[in-house]
Amino acid sequence: MGFKTELENFTLSKILYDVPMKKHTSFGVGGKAKYFTKVDSLCALNSLIQTAKRYKVKYKVIGNGSNLLVSDMGFNGLVICTKGLDDVYFKREQVRAMAGVKIEKLLSFCLKNRLSGIESLAGIPATVGGAVVMNASAFGRSISDHIAEVETLKDGKIKKYYKNECKFEYRKSRFYHSKETIVSATFNFREEDPQRIISAINSYREHRNNFHPQGRSCGSVFKNPKPERAGELIDRAGLKGLRFGGARVSLKHGNFIVTDKNASATDVYHLILHVKEKVEQLFGVQLFEEVEYVGEF
Ligand SMILES: Cc1cc2nc3c(=O)[nH]c(=O)nc-3n(C[C@H](O)[C@H](O)[C@H](O)COP(=O)(O)OP(=O)(O)OC[C@H]3O[C@@H](n4cnc5c(N)ncnc54)[C@H](O)[C@@H]3O)c2cc1C
Repeated sequence: MGFKTELENFTLSKILYDVPMKKHTSFGVGGKAKYFTKVDSLCALNSLIQTAKRYKVKYKVIGNGSNLLVSDMGFNGLVICTKGLDDVYFKREQVRAMAGVKIEKLLSFCLKNRLSGIESLAGIPATVGGAVVMNASAFGRSISDHIAEVETLKDGKIKKYYKNECKFEYRKSRFYHSKETIVSATFNFREEDPQRIISAINSYREHRNNFHPQGRSCGSVFKNPKPERAGELIDRAGLKGLRFGGARVSLKHGNFIVTDKNASATDVYHLILHVKEKVEQLFGVQLFEEVEYVGEF
């Protein structure tokens, strides 16, 4: 039996064919995934990964697609979206969230249970899996600050990592580009007065609304080349507002690229290359992408 036939007979999740990835990424650009599915069970996730490996078909596990630039040529393999794995519950004193739980849902769960910790992540359109892989952070606080343990699927088995084994760094963890798939994360939060939680969330949201552009983006395109800030370098280079086709550097924040409806991934890619080149020419600083390329560029 070939890979396609196995997919056709697969009953644990619905397999879609030639799916435009612009529908599944926050940039809203890019070509088609040859195969696409959204899983809602570990069994489906594991089985699809094993099948793809057996047939040597490329696969990519994604969360909410908020840090991805998918090539206009698409992805010639299987995209597995985890957003159906969206349970969050108490595990003794700790909170366990499955990989596909959105940060907003985790925040609501915390608020309802008077738990504080990740308010600064309000407004990040990520899943728990994607946020753990990237060690998402905002306003000096990272998701890893509250992680107790992370569970993955590795070679068909569940593997547990305690926080000190996760190798969390700035926008990085041991799970980034690894062969493991995160299935859940368990958190330690502290009790707090709900009014204080709400007011913290509101002030972080307000800051985002004031300083970050609306519209389709991937958040920050570049990592900050510490001690500098990528957005400030791009601003000083006079690149704010620069446009390539349907993609432009935001006027509100230099480290954001926003896309119009007619934008292509190639527009975004060329703009990224141009910004990198200019910043290096002017300041001798090399910028590295925070956004991840999927497919061929
Ligand atoms: C408007 C906006 C604001 C943003 N603000 C911030 C911010 O303040 N701070 C910040 O850090 N980021 C920010 N981001 C970027 C982005 O939200 C984060 O990088 C986030 O962690 C990505 O999560 P995701 O679920 O969308 O992952 P995806 O983009 O789907 O995937 C990102 C990476 O994680 C991998 N991955 C996803 N799920 C799993 C899994 N279960 N197992 C293994 N690998 C997996 C993917 O393969 C990929 O390599 C912002 C983005 C947007 C659009």
